[in-house]
Amino acid sequence: MFGTFDSAVVDHFGTLNVIDFKYGAGHAVSPVKNLQMIFYGVGLAHLYQWNFKRVRLWVVQPRIKGYDGPTYWEVPTLELKTYVDFFKRAVDRVELNPNEFVEGGHCHWCKAKGICP
Ligand code: SF4
Repeated sequence: MFGTFDSAVVDHFGTLNVIDFKYGAGHAVSPVKNLQMIFYGVGLAHLYQWNFKRVRLWVVQPRIKGYDGPTYWEVPTLELKTYVDFFKRAVDRVELNPNEFVEGGHCHWCKAKGICP
């Protein structure tokens, strides 16, 4: 598994801030329980041995008009760690059933959309 976030502020034993910049103007994204952001947070926290009290997941989207939701979601590190199993189970499902495709909102940004059965 891999991912590319845009920026982070690593405050050991304090708050790990993970920041994603979204330039699009037409699709507002909330950071609250946002799986893409959680995934980035898990990866970076793991890289630093989970040495944080909390993790803040930021979505910066300056071109969005009319969005008045939160710009970050703060999660205790122990709660974030519970998502490791969540992602591991997802990987296991893909490896066990590589030909099972589930269409949904998650397809919007999928790079395989053009060839997906
Ligand atoms: S388009 Fe992408 S995300 Fe959607 S079902 Fe196909 S492979 Fe999965």
